[in-house]
Formats: sequence, C-alpha cells, structure tokens
Amino acid sequence: MDSLTTLLSDAAGGYRLTGDEAAALLRVRGRDVHRVTSAADEMRVQRAGETVTYVRNQNLHVTNICKNLCGFCGFGRKATDEGAYCHDKKGIQAQARLARDRKVTEICLLSGVHPGFTLDTFIDLIHWVHDVDPDVHVHAFSPDEVAHVAKRGGIATPEVLARLKEEGLGTIQGTAAEILVDSVRKVICPQKVPTADWVRIIKEAHRMGLRSTATIMYGSCESVADQVEHLGILREIQDETRGFTELVTLPYIHTNTPLFRQGIARAGPTGREDLLMIAVSRLFLDNFENIQVAWGKVGLKMTQLALLAGANDLAGTMFTDDVSGDAGASGSDYLDPVVMDRIVSDLGRTLRQRTTLYERV
Ligand code: SF4
Repeated sequence: MDSLTTLLSDAAGGYRLTGDEAAALLRVRGRDVHRVTSAADEMRVQRAGETVTYVRNQNLHVTNICKNLCGFCGFGRKATDEGAYCHDKKGIQAQARLARDRKVTEICLLSGVHPGFTLDTFIDLIHWVHDVDPDVHVHAFSPDEVAHVAKRGGIATPEVLARLKEEGLGTIQGTAAEILVDSVRKVICPQKVPTADWVRIIKEAHRMGLRSTATIMYGSCESVADQVEHLGILREIQDETRGFTELVTLPYIHTNTPLFRQGIARAGPTGREDLLMIAVSRLFLDNFENIQVAWGKVGLKMTQLALLAGANDLAGTMFTDDVSGDAGASGSDYLDPVVMDRIVSDLGRTLRQRTTLYERV
C-alpha cells in the first residue's frame, strides 16, 4: 500500500489527521485528487448521509460603506465613493417584506462595517426585520462587526453579544475569518480583528448559545500551510464549543479586487483546489457534520462535483449577493430549489430544506 492509501484508510477508520497530513492532501495532483475526493465522499456518507440540505434564505444588504476596505473585496466602499449606499429603516423593511413574501426562514444581513454603526444600530436592524416577520431567523454580524461596535461604545464584547441575543439575533456570522493567520491578514485585511480576537469573540458567542458558521476564504495570497493552520484553529474551537453549524468554503473571487489589480494576489483557486478544499475539510474537520459549498462562487457544475467530494450542504437560495457580484462572480444571486433538486437528484441523492440550525422544515 502506498502512503496515500494508508493515510486515507486511517482517516476512514477514525484517525485524526495532523496539519502536515492535511497539507499533503491539499497538495496532491493528477489522479490522486480523485482518491482524496472519493475518501472524503465516503466520510460524508458516514457523517451526513445521502441527504443534501439547503436553507431558504435571503441576503439583506444594509450598506456597502466599510471602514475596512479589505484588499480582496470588491463590495466595500468609502462613503464618498460612487455607488456607496446605506439603507434606512424603509429600505431594510422593504427587503424584509420581500423576504417574507418569498417565505424565507433566514435573513442574512450582508453589510460593510460602517464606521458610524453602533450596538444600537445593530439592535435597530434586528427589530426592523422582526417587525416585518417576527419568526424569521436573523443571521448577522461577524466577530469583526461585534468588535467594532464594542470599541465604539466602550462595551465588552460578551456584553454586546448578550444584548444582540436578547434582542432577537439567531446566530452570528463566522465571516471575517478569511485566513486566521496574522501575517496573511496583514496583507489581505489589515483593518480586521487579529486572529486572537476573532477566536475569542466566536468562543464567547458559542458559550452563550449563539452558534455560528465557520468560513475559510482561500486562493488569494495564503500558502497551503496557512490554510491548514486556519482549519486547525476551527477544529480546536469546535472541540471546545461545538458551536459551529458548518464550514463554508469561500474561494477568492479576484476580478474586481485591489489585491489582484496590484498583482499581490493570484487569480483565485483552480478547480483542483476548490475540490480539494472541500475534500480535505471533510477529512480533517472530524468534528464538523456539515461542509457547505458556495454555489454562488464556484458555479453550478463545480457545485455538483463538490457534492461528490465531501460537501453535503448547498447553502441557501440567497436571492441576492452583491458581495460576490461586485467582486466579479456571475450567477451568484438566486438558486431556485428546483435547480438544486436537478443537480442533487442527478447524483442519486435527496434534497431537503433545513433551518439555519439544520433542523427539518
Ligand atoms: S470584506 Fe467585508 S469588511 Fe472587508 S471591505 Fe468587504 S465589506 Fe468591508
């Protein structure tokens, strides 16, 4: 038996991969890619079964004005830039009404980190949505946004989280993680919270019962070793809190972003890397039940292949995603469950609608 066969069969038997082993799997080429994705697919059957899930959700854009202006982002703008906007109550509630009419179960607030926002702004946003639809699950606010309003108000982050939960927040967003390696963050998102703060805030949220997604944004400037360090941090947090609902793998969309224009980042991950990120996440994150493929970023055909490489969740209907669109993605706005069903049943699997917390609808 060669070493890859031994490693994959050990992983199938419950052996926990080391970071170096995960890195070796992320580096495979040629036919070995199939061997890794196929092992991950078998692991997916053990952990998540044959059902592919999705949530009926809608992104609600709050503002694209952002204090961070990350180099990998095509969405955030300065207040004085052309196309900058910030929706008021009327604009937010118009989007919330649309979501209610579409029978979504989750509203995901997608926003820049507006320098003027405070804890009260966040509470208003939750209330404005719940005034329209009291039952909808509000999924919002990354650790970076939590840190921002905490700093502005001179409040501790656990207090911010507790207030948001009290006021109706359902789950927080595991975004702003990008790559949890400070030397990479200094290049791709220098204004965002450093790794230690991101980890602390996400643990504080989990400990008070506010669960979150986990994310990785890969394919810009980081190395395979950085990717694995990031995944290792997520695995350790999950060991401690069990608060992550899923891992969302987010390939870097390069087209309209400063990092790419300045020649600092490459043109995003290749298809091999997309599939291996799904597969190795499935094999390495032995304490995650759900691995999600971001259809809006990889496209539908790659999404279907990712479902054969360890993924079991299709994220949501979305209805709109200016973050991916502004960075240069196409077809990232809406995925009809009918189309989801087409690619899922074509694989001989079953599509099922879920809630944000993976309960049956
Ligand atoms: S990624 Fe988020 S925080 Fe960074 S510039 Fe874009 S909107 Fe702002």
